[in-house]
Amino acid sequence: MKRLSIFVVIIACIISFIVLRLDSQTEIGIINSLSSNKVEKNVREKSMVATELTEEQEERENTVMIEKRSEEKTDETPPATEITEPFLVVIDPGHQAKANLEQEPIGPDARETKYKVTGGTTGVATGKPEYVLALEAAHLLKAQLEKKGFQVILTRSSHDVDISNRERAEIANKHEADLFVRLHADGSESAEMNGFSVLVPGKDNPYTVAIYDDSYMAAQTVLSLMSKEVKIYQNGLYFRNDLSGFNWSKVPVILTEIGFMTNPEEDKKLSNEDYLTHLIKQLAAGIEAYAKTKHGDGSHVSFAFSTIGLVFCFSSCLFNSHCSLFLYIFYKKVAGI
Ligand SMILES: [Zn+2]
Repeated sequence: MKRLSIFVVIIACIISFIVLRLDSQTEIGIINSLSSNKVEKNVREKSMVATELTEEQEERENTVMIEKRSEEKTDETPPATEITEPFLVVIDPGHQAKANLEQEPIGPDARETKYKVTGGTTGVATGKPEYVLALEAAHLLKAQLEKKGFQVILTRSSHDVDISNRERAEIANKHEADLFVRLHADGSESAEMNGFSVLVPGKDNPYTVAIYDDSYMAAQTVLSLMSKEVKIYQNGLYFRNDLSGFNWSKVPVILTEIGFMTNPEEDKKLSNEDYLTHLIKQLAAGIEAYAKTKHGDGSHVSFAFSTIGLVFCFSSCLFNSHCSLFLYIFYKKVAGI
């Protein structure tokens, strides 16, 4: 009987260790997400296609379908909490007043070249250029993130600049950003298309191997939170290998298309201060969730506690203590992991 009870405790400890170890490696934490129901984790990869085009509005075929989402907008707003460790976000408001159609390599040592920076799309209802909307959104995002304790740098704060997509990525590199967020709006030949989406470097992109995992995690996290608030365009997440602004980046990068300016209704909504503020708040919440995964709810702390807990369990079992499992769970609670 004594041996059986020791055996049961050891098995329980091992199961706890495995669960907590897995928990420490997930984006938000299995246990946390179960208890707080904060993040929806249902993004699934289905297929992958990668080709090359030049303008964003022409690039929809070069995508990977993740999941179709079209959830209703709600009034849910995530709680505002400050991050505890320094986290630098470099925001790039897409485009500028005058396009620069000179060429630059699409990545380090690349033979292939691309326009330095294109003009972007224009609102069909508002007549607003994309570069104006992008800067408005960037200022809102900067304010939201700074309120949460983030450090934020903008690649541009006026329209009258000449900064290529490569140079924008290099600004993020120079500052060693924790996340590089490129802000754009979408365009399409179809006035019907609408919704938010995120572009991210592809897994097979040779220029971005080192930043793929984090970029993908950031994109997934942002989409998960955003999908609760606004309509997600078609597939939501797109892998891209042909964007200079990705390929020159040495830090995790995502590009958010905040909506279609070629859809009259969405174009008007994007110029509605309340709507844009709400959307950007949700984007900031997604970035915050990613930052906490990387720093706040860090796997190191969780791993340390789970390891200590396991050692403690085995030690206790040697002395036939039956409370070791409860103490181990207590560790988890005390750690707040
Ligand atoms: Zn754009």
